[in-house]
Amino acid sequence: MKVYFLGTGTSQGIPVIGSKHSVCLSADPKDKRLRVSVWIHDVDFSIVIDCGPDFRQQMLTSNCQHLDAVLFTHEHADHTAGLDDIRPFYFTQGAIPIYAHERVLKNLVKRFDYIFETENKYPGAPSVVPIEVKENQPFSLKNKQIEPITALHGDLQVFGYKFTDFVYLTDVKQMDSFEIEKIKGVKLLVINALRYEPHTTHFNMEEAINFIHLVQPKKAYLTHISHLMGFHEEVQQNLPKNVFLAYDNLEIEI
Ligand SMILES: [Zn+2]
Repeated sequence: MKVYFLGTGTSQGIPVIGSKHSVCLSADPKDKRLRVSVWIHDVDFSIVIDCGPDFRQQMLTSNCQHLDAVLFTHEHADHTAGLDDIRPFYFTQGAIPIYAHERVLKNLVKRFDYIFETENKYPGAPSVVPIEVKENQPFSLKNKQIEPITALHGDLQVFGYKFTDFVYLTDVKQMDSFEIEKIKGVKLLVINALRYEPHTTHFNMEEAINFIHLVQPKKAYLTHISHLMGFHEEVQQNLPKNVFLAYDNLEIEI
């Protein structure tokens, strides 16, 4: 199975529009971060987690040709705003299954009403098959078993997803020990780290590193990164030896 980092940036992406911050002006491609998302693919398996405003560009850059499903972590725009751009997949494959918490599905129906329209639907609009993800209820998607992991993003419930040896979590600020038990000792953990300064709804670097100590993965990659974290190259030098800053277009084989 391969994990391709489509985007590793926080909600505004890096560079931030109009910003004169040195990280936003950096020429290092590792300092360019689209909105957070991963493509998980294998023989006969291809899904993305989240579908933010950079989805179209991410599908072109990664050369993703087929999409079995979109899994959503939560409803915030940096994770959902690109839903309309599943159209090319819909035109060739038919309605695309989307997996999310019931609350997130309701939110998508409100914001993308034309996608969920059943009468007089515009022929160019995409269609989806909504599938509810419930806490503590693993599900299978094609040949993979997937376990939803619950966390809190401020007051908002968010889902992460566990695929046997791999766990993807983003927008986490808090997690119950019951949920942490589910992911202990995993081979590869992806977890959000926004910046060094604390933030009310996202882990900062210290919280992410503490979380990694609790989970004890073989390797951990940090994502959902702000320009305020600093230059990729410099931040990486100060990380523990099994912790890495993810960057856009990084692909890892599990
Ligand atoms: Zn986010």
